Amino acid sequence: MRIIYILIFCSLLSVALLWLGQYKKLTKRAAACGAALSMALAGVLLLLAVLPGNSFYGKVLTHSDVQRKVIALTFDDGPYPPYTQKLLKVLAEKHVHATFFMVGENAAKHPELVREMQSAGHLVALHAGYHKDLLKLSTDEVRSNIAYGKSTLEGITGTQLHFMRPPHGFKDWSVISAIEDAGLLTTNWSIIPRDWTNPGAQVITDRVLEKAEPGAIVLLHDGDSPKNKAPREQTIEAVATIIDKLRAQGYEFVTIEELAKENH
Ligand SMILES: [Zn+2]
Repeated sequence: MRIIYILIFCSLLSVALLWLGQYKKLTKRAAACGAALSMALAGVLLLLAVLPGNSFYGKVLTHSDVQRKVIALTFDDGPYPPYTQKLLKVLAEKHVHATFFMVGENAAKHPELVREMQSAGHLVALHAGYHKDLLKLSTDEVRSNIAYGKSTLEGITGTQLHFMRPPHGFKDWSVISAIEDAGLLTTNWSIIPRDWTNPGAQVITDRVLEKAEPGAIVLLHDGDSPKNKAPREQTIEAVATIIDKLRAQGYEFVTIEELAKENH
């Protein structure tokens, strides 16, 4: 079921109720209440689709319920030279393994970077075949987008993928079931420092440190899909500091695969 159909239905229902009220088939009060309820339902469903931290439409991994100080750094939208290489260098220097949710289209252009991540011990995961809002695509388009991204990354790495983060974290019943049918677990986040707006490395660092807790998943970006224009220097600078500061607090950095196992 696509949320877009429910939103259209709720809107039409509201208009119909107001029309019935106008032509005295219903009391104006009943018509207004019905229309308001219908639009409120649409609003709630839309919020549940765009907010990352709920499993209303199906299972979404957003964090792990653990006491142990483990935290997962995740990077979306790459590979994106030269920033992905610079980030890999920082992660190697700090001996940290992260998770990269990549765009199939970008991976096809830079397969060497995907293999570099893999051989460095990072987890390769899927963001999408093409960076599009999956809520706006037909069910067939969603499935072919996922299939393209998955086969591209699996072709490069020679291993099976297990995790996918839909673009913007947006999901509905159809998106989650398409992800599950591809053998993947929908994976969002619990900390979002909005690094893609380039607010300054210090701000990105502070936002992560403020929210850090055991089992958290941090959303960062080594890429800038679909435009591939913005720099990612601030994110890279912030990552080095975030690692040092969290490590000083006793945190261990894990991949999403390792974090998911912590739940059991
Ligand atoms: Zn993205």
